[in-house]
Amino acid sequence: MDIPRIFTITESAHRIHNPFTPEKLAALGAALRLEAGTRVLDLGSGSGEMLCTWACDYGITGIGVDLSRLFSQQAQLRAEELGVADRVEFIHGDAAGYIADDKVDVAACLGATWIGGGVAGTIELLAKSLRHDGIILIGEPYWLRVPPTEDVARNCQAGSIADFLPLPELIASFDGLGYDLVEMVLADQEGWDRYEAAKWLTMRRWLKANPDDGMAKEVRSQLTSEPVRYAAYTREYLGWGVFALMAR
Ligand code: SAH
Repeated sequence: MDIPRIFTITESAHRIHNPFTPEKLAALGAALRLEAGTRVLDLGSGSGEMLCTWACDYGITGIGVDLSRLFSQQAQLRAEELGVADRVEFIHGDAAGYIADDKVDVAACLGATWIGGGVAGTIELLAKSLRHDGIILIGEPYWLRVPPTEDVARNCQAGSIADFLPLPELIASFDGLGYDLVEMVLADQEGWDRYEAAKWLTMRRWLKANPDDGMAKEVRSQLTSEPVRYAAYTREYLGWGVFALMAR
């Protein structure tokens, strides 16, 4: 059970697998006014940077669930490195349908809302683990500019224009689901560059180390085409943010 190998090749050196910088992640923690002992659940926790740094900086405790064996191992190592292995637990597995045994104060899914079949389904899933008046965190792309054609949307790696909303519509959709938006931290182009451009050096080094691997052709092709695709499309059209929600 694992995610497609291309992601563990291109993002093996990432600590944060989305367009947030370490500063944005810390800003989000501060914005949420986290206190020592706050219990956080993170579905699709990646390499665990959010839980580990928040455990270190704010004294939270956390559970992360992720389908990637590599990322889950990296999360555990990061917890040990930051001295918070007693406060955070990383479970390797499918987070679809995952419900925490004990209710949490903050339930998050950043950049993996397919886990609940979209934003609405993921909010519903997270709500099952959440204490009364707890906070749900959703990390999700939105259109900075709506693509003029479906081709442009696909070049942004969206399935179609309808996959994402412009920011005001995305915010309005939370209202429609019965939630107050109580905080948000938005990524910027610098963060997108850190997320996307970091893959290029990783790919280049991986190709050097694995010239005969079955994935080498695909990785070579991505390394050649990705920088222009990213600069022309994702960087221009796509925003990303984390939205903090409380049920009304
Ligand atoms: N939230 C993390 C990772 C975002 S990338 C961060 O911001 O750094 C998306 C993550 O979802 C990847 O780590 C991937 O392994 C994980 N993932 C994909 N499908 C999943 C599933 N069904 N269950 C749990 N994790 C999943």
